[in-house]
Amino acid sequence: MPNNTVEITTICSDVENSQFKLESLAPEEPTPTKSITPTLHPQLSQRRSLPRIKILGTGGTIASKAESSSATADYKVDLTIQDMLEAIPDISRICEVEYEQLCNVDSKNIDESILMKIYNGISESLQKFDGIVITHGTDSLAETAFFIESTIDTGEVPIVCVGSMRPSSSVSADGPMNLYQAICIAADSKSRNRGVLVSLNDQISAGYYITKTNANSLDSFNVRQGYLGNFVNNEIHYYYPPVKPQGCHKFKLNISNDKDTFNFPDVCIIYAHQGITSKMLNMVKDQYAGIVLATMGAGSMPDKVNKDCLNVDIPIIYSKRSMDGMIPKANLPKDSNGDYRNCIASGYLNPEKSRILLQLCLACNYSIDETRHVFRGVYGG
Ligand code: ASP
Repeated sequence: MPNNTVEITTICSDVENSQFKLESLAPEEPTPTKSITPTLHPQLSQRRSLPRIKILGTGGTIASKAESSSATADYKVDLTIQDMLEAIPDISRICEVEYEQLCNVDSKNIDESILMKIYNGISESLQKFDGIVITHGTDSLAETAFFIESTIDTGEVPIVCVGSMRPSSSVSADGPMNLYQAICIAADSKSRNRGVLVSLNDQISAGYYITKTNANSLDSFNVRQGYLGNFVNNEIHYYYPPVKPQGCHKFKLNISNDKDTFNFPDVCIIYAHQGITSKMLNMVKDQYAGIVLATMGAGSMPDKVNKDCLNVDIPIIYSKRSMDGMIPKANLPKDSNGDYRNCIASGYLNPEKSRILLQLCLACNYSIDETRHVFRGVYGG
């Protein structure tokens, strides 16, 4: 049942100022997207204007249905944003919502052309909305969040990525609550100046650092750099004042109007294991523009592989298969002059985020020293 009395509270002393003033926004332009326009209580409309939220839908389990209510696998993406909004409590007293379906796919199918749609969708909405919500499959959500944080200056506007672990047809589906929370978080003034956020299972995290750590459970995401806050019973609690990730390098992408995909240089990931040889390295080094190694421990690769890496002409990022921790520069292989050549430490970044960062460096024609400098931001280099 829609609950018309719900209001969201931020536990903060200046809660009275927690709604945005529409006057401070750029003039509204006509938009082809659909909208839900709230009917405001007259007193409320005099007191304040509601924040405007844009939802960009891409699919994922949150937009999926399975054959039965007990099934949590083998489901199909087929819900629209409108369907998903119908399953959540009434938000018309919290914000005005517009939405746009960018695509409707499992996130394993998010590629560079969809990333471009997300990039454009955010860029076009930033001046017109107070917050943006992106519905997305959880499998590759962290990569999209990292990509957005690295390529878009979001200014004050929170970008809240959200997904779910259970399909909408399931008993105790988590999607409706996750979506409801994400919209409330995007609409809350205390979320401003926090960049790209991920909201799932009552937790709010930094998109730059979050990782999917559990393939099945509702508490699927983890972030050792700390959760930023949580959402309980319509209250949003932030543990820290507004903060953006330290050392995040912003890339300015030059995109011509006639392009519908990014065409980033190809970077592959090689996963290390006991007994790994240089066979894979030799197979891919002429096929790719860069390589990321998911090394053992904090940069460990067999001596022979390290030696061969020093002789490869393309950048090689030493990342880690361990979930947490970092690769210190001191663990990179060096030649007899103490030179790391094309080898770069990933710092705190996992292999899939290192891959995106290297692609962006290559797309911007950065030299090896400039690329090393970018990775130094996350304590690698
Ligand atoms: N297979 C799903 C995806 O689109 C998983 C999820 O959304 O939880 O990533």
